[in-house]
Amino acid sequence: MESNVERELRLRNKWDKEGTFQRSITNREGRETFVFYEGPPTANGLPHAGHALGRTIKDFVARYKTMSGYQVLRKAGWDTHGLPVELEVEKQLNIRGKDQIEEYGIENFVQKCKESVFAYENEWKQFTEALGYWVDMEDPYITLNNEYIESVWNILSTIHDKGYLYKGHRVVPYCPHCEISLSSHEVAQGYKDVTDLSVTAKFRLKGTENEYLLGWTTTPWTLPSNVAVAVNPNMNYVRVKQDSEIFILAESLAPKVMKEKFETVDVIKGQDLIGRSYEPPFNYVTLSNGYKVLGADFVTETSGTGIVHLAPAHGEDDYKAIQDNHFDFINVVDTKGRYKDYITPLAGQFVKDCDVDIIKMLSKQNLLFDKQKYEHSYPHCWRCDSPLLYYAMEGWFIKTTAVKEEMQLNNQGVQWFPHHMRDGRFGKFLENMVDWNIGRNRYWGTPLNVWVCKECGEEKAPKSIKELRKLSVEELPEDIELHKPYVDKVHLTCSCGSKMERTSEVIDVWFDSGSMPFAQYHYPFENKETFKKQFPADVVIEGVDQTRGWFYSLLAVSTLFTRQSPYKRVLSLGHILDENGQKMSKSKGNALNPTELINEFGADSLRWALLADSSPWNNKRFSKKTVSQAKSKVIDTLLNVYSFYSMYAEIDQFNPDSDLGGTQTTLDKWILSRLNSVTMEVTQSLDGYDITRGARSISTFIDELSNWYVRRSRQRFWSSGMTDDKRSAFSTLYEVLKKLSQLMAPYTPYATEDIFTNLVKDSVHLSDYPQPDETLIDEQLEKDMDAVLQIIELTRSLRNTVGIKTKQPLAQLIVIPKEENNLSPLEKYSSIIKDEMNIKEVEFRGNYQDLLVVELKLNFAVVGPKVGKSVGEVKNKVEKLDDTEKEIFLQETAIQLPLNSGETVTLTMDDVLIDKKGKDGFELLEGSNFLTLLDTKLTQELKEEGLVREFVRAVQTHRKELDLPVDLRVDLYVETDSWLQAVLIRFDELVQKNLIINSIRFESKPDMKIFIVEGHEINLYIKP
Ligand SMILES: [Zn+2]
Ligand SMILES: [Zn+2]
Repeated sequence: MESNVERELRLRNKWDKEGTFQRSITNREGRETFVFYEGPPTANGLPHAGHALGRTIKDFVARYKTMSGYQVLRKAGWDTHGLPVELEVEKQLNIRGKDQIEEYGIENFVQKCKESVFAYENEWKQFTEALGYWVDMEDPYITLNNEYIESVWNILSTIHDKGYLYKGHRVVPYCPHCEISLSSHEVAQGYKDVTDLSVTAKFRLKGTENEYLLGWTTTPWTLPSNVAVAVNPNMNYVRVKQDSEIFILAESLAPKVMKEKFETVDVIKGQDLIGRSYEPPFNYVTLSNGYKVLGADFVTETSGTGIVHLAPAHGEDDYKAIQDNHFDFINVVDTKGRYKDYITPLAGQFVKDCDVDIIKMLSKQNLLFDKQKYEHSYPHCWRCDSPLLYYAMEGWFIKTTAVKEEMQLNNQGVQWFPHHMRDGRFGKFLENMVDWNIGRNRYWGTPLNVWVCKECGEEKAPKSIKELRKLSVEELPEDIELHKPYVDKVHLTCSCGSKMERTSEVIDVWFDSGSMPFAQYHYPFENKETFKKQFPADVVIEGVDQTRGWFYSLLAVSTLFTRQSPYKRVLSLGHILDENGQKMSKSKGNALNPTELINEFGADSLRWALLADSSPWNNKRFSKKTVSQAKSKVIDTLLNVYSFYSMYAEIDQFNPDSDLGGTQTTLDKWILSRLNSVTMEVTQSLDGYDITRGARSISTFIDELSNWYVRRSRQRFWSSGMTDDKRSAFSTLYEVLKKLSQLMAPYTPYATEDIFTNLVKDSVHLSDYPQPDETLIDEQLEKDMDAVLQIIELTRSLRNTVGIKTKQPLAQLIVIPKEENNLSPLEKYSSIIKDEMNIKEVEFRGNYQDLLVVELKLNFAVVGPKVGKSVGEVKNKVEKLDDTEKEIFLQETAIQLPLNSGETVTLTMDDVLIDKKGKDGFELLEGSNFLTLLDTKLTQELKEEGLVREFVRAVQTHRKELDLPVDLRVDLYVETDSWLQAVLIRFDELVQKNLIINSIRFESKPDMKIFIVEGHEINLYIKP
């Protein structure tokens, strides 16, 4: 048999050959567009489980919208620039850091980057194709192409024209190992809990012998960079005396900080401390303006001492306070995070490793007041794991804060899934946004297109290659390369007559991907019409971490460039966790490889598991087991139903073009009603992007189809000739399979394609998504059948409880509806229940007391406190109630019992525990809507019939072993004891009905197959 994987490969080749994907787009030419943007992955790493989820949902939405009548272009993209590429190449070349890159040569280095970008392109293509993700990888946008870069330059130049691109100094999160600053969305990805040391240092006031400001810091390594200390002008401070020293700190914090006995000398306002000078703890740097107390509102009483040490090179607040007060700026740390040479004792050491040294040095000078270990969440580089430093850097910024309100307004118009993202995670991120640090002092990226004149300071940002040529001093080659170092060799002529040089930075890769709505079509240089139709996106779909990444950069770039939101809808997907709820990671060894899952179970199974198991908006626990279950419960079940249909359709030469019709049974009407109800549920769910709910409706339906409709209808396909009943069975199953494969096509594109193509001779993906036919929906019938299924479930449980197999017929089932409900009389379904459960009679009735033994027991916990000492007497009385008394009690829900003492006690239903049991061989089971009583008494007649059914099964088993065609009538030879032979003859009708045979002969044959059934030996021979 063809495996799932083989089938998928066969269909993929068919799609390729027939150009099915392209046709699904061209056959919607002129229809309304549904715009989808592909967030570009990087091809220098392998796809992981999260990519499988993202790509499955993207494909799902695009297929669903296509089948719903829209034209959905699907342009693939590749993110190709950036530091990860550089680090990969550094690894390859076994070099490290900027010095060694420059030594190696930027031109060669950039060339290597370019080559390594597509290291895993093949794996990505294969993965994408195997997953069944239809996306145009023949004509992708690639961020390193000149056209793409030119569009990005055009956008940057527009932003420059608006005055939003500026050079500034800012304290930014910085990785000293990668020597690069990180955007806030990158910082958020790398928080780790670590233990650090905090320090309370003594800052001696100038002109005093023993009076100190107590300054608190959580980063002792910044103390050599101290420029000032800050107090809150409105807070109260105290001067306190301890031993022979006087300390100044916030009044409210004094008891906590001073711990031991201290004496308050006086209270002063923060305002009065401002301007006082102090001796810095370290004096490696001389300042012309600094080492003074200044006032700042960010100082609070929540922790520390109420006096904050300021190092403008390492804190944003610090930097701003120093600027506002016109104090000096110093930075004693180099770009690799090491103390500069003039910090003599620590020169060249990594600052984060020096906390202990700093503390020792303070202590030596008697400037250490206190130190404490504390645990906190500290940002680390998401690429290299180094702790980040806050570090003042010069760089280029985009003034996103200038368009903050516009971005917020645009966001308000976006429909987010899950909905809380809009004002929650994403809204908050916008609320707290800072200017976009766009420049990177690296090599491999889109070069920042700003040229600066050293003479007069003028800046020019060419809008296009054409403009660059026009302004260039040098003659530029036709096939100009826009990357470093080539572009650095281009000089522009300044209006002052001097030569302008390009600022050396490349830009943040997030700006590349954020520009894709424009740059993917080389807008505004080309494709203006296409762009117009493809902007904004109806939907973008990525992982939740992109709230700080691509979702943000798309909105920022588009708002800056066009003032519009680039998308109408965002589907933000949760993370995929392992089965224990842990994040998957290669290093932990718990990462699932999606390609391996596809190779083992098929893409349909993986897709179904990802889409149906739990809502994609939440983090998802996922394992191989989920995929294997999707395969066995859904994909294989669907294919089994189809192969059942196709096998008999082949035998009977059933042709849907001419043979549809027949006389529908209740079961036919029911499955068609369900089909249309499910179609309605699914389309409603999918229009609301509730993909999981749609999957659940389908999953229920497949179970009903396979385990109820087909199983109950099997015999109809076995009859010979084409009766009206059989015709209806074929027609119904044909209709169901056709519509079901369309409903499921976006979920499981392979299996459904196979089924639909065989039924209809065309691709399911070129068909229109099915609409419900409401005239075929019969709600009452569905409710009734649901009730029937509940009754069958109860009966099955009863059989299991008493251990009587379904093969053994039983005399009677009594069904009692628990409440008067809206069910039409269920009698008409008796035959189905009888047949399914192998029961001779099914009776529906209201009264059943005659079949019950009711046992009442006293509920001591309730009655004990109520009657006290008499509890024993009450217990006896309750247990001795006769059937009539019990019945009255149960009906009236109360009973009065006279006690020996002459008192009377009243018991209610709460006071007793009721145990109902069937009697006279009846077993009772109570469901939520029904009580069922099953007669488990076995008469001789029933036992014999049971035996006959076991015999039938033995014959069927043997037939299967012989692998005979299902419709082949055979001669059956049986040798057994005379008693069983007599029984088989008596039940000849039953035997004939259940076996496809010409005759049954009680004769011996050589090589008979022996079966033992209930102690009887049966020898079988089947002659085809
Ligand atoms: Zn790093
Ligand atoms: Zn100039």
